[in-house]
Amino acid sequence: MTTIRDNLQQVRARVVKACTAAGRDAAGVQLLAVSKTFGPEAVREARAAGQRAFGENYVQEGLSKIEALADLRAELEWHCIGPLQSNKTRSVAEHFDWVHSVDRLKIAQRLSEQRPAGLPPLQVCLQVNVDGGANKSGVPPEEALALARVVAELPRLRLRGIMAIPEPAPDFVAQRALFMRAAAVFDQIREAGVPLDTLSLGMSADLEAAIAAGSTMVRVGTAIFGGRPQPITRSG
Ligand SMILES: *Cc1c(COP(=O)(O)O)cnc(C)c1O
Repeated sequence: MTTIRDNLQQVRARVVKACTAAGRDAAGVQLLAVSKTFGPEAVREARAAGQRAFGENYVQEGLSKIEALADLRAELEWHCIGPLQSNKTRSVAEHFDWVHSVDRLKIAQRLSEQRPAGLPPLQVCLQVNVDGGANKSGVPPEEALALARVVAELPRLRLRGIMAIPEPAPDFVAQRALFMRAAAVFDQIREAGVPLDTLSLGMSADLEAAIAAGSTMVRVGTAIFGGRPQPITRSG
């Protein structure tokens, strides 16, 4: 039985190796531990092994974990990475630190309006649909700059970057090419004068290709916490 601590060490080693291969400084890639479907005890174990940032897909599940781990709240950073419906924005604005999945103005406006005054601005990434898959979340790449300009002006949000979840590709080169589409959107927005510092790309199976394409934050679940019991398709 490997432990969460062992797994974290292995994932960190993969990140370092991928950075070396890409000629990058490993300090430029943050690790987000995706704890969806795992309980608060798994998060405690990861925290004890030095992990600080955690990602949750389902708002309700995330909220109950944040609540169960209230004693560690100041030490943890909670990222909402799943599709976001309008009726869930308030609890996200009130309880999370980051949202990676902003893909339309209405959601961004609600998050900004609902972010409590006593908290720092909510850190957000725009999710970009780099595959063009019609059934997938994310703003189309050609609309990302316009959305970024408006979101960057919302008072209670801080626009940090771009997130994408491309379809799995057959090999490293093909996977990297998909990630590079997201990196191109990131560069385009920065060159237009909107400051971004976060490119949220890569999961357990493809973090090396994501790092080769410039990822600054990899979102890793399975390789840290183990396999999830069943594929999850529900949202919210
Ligand atoms: C589940 C999930 C991950 C982690 O996926 P693994 O393959 O388990 O590493 C990363 N990002 C998002 C948006 C996810 O839903």
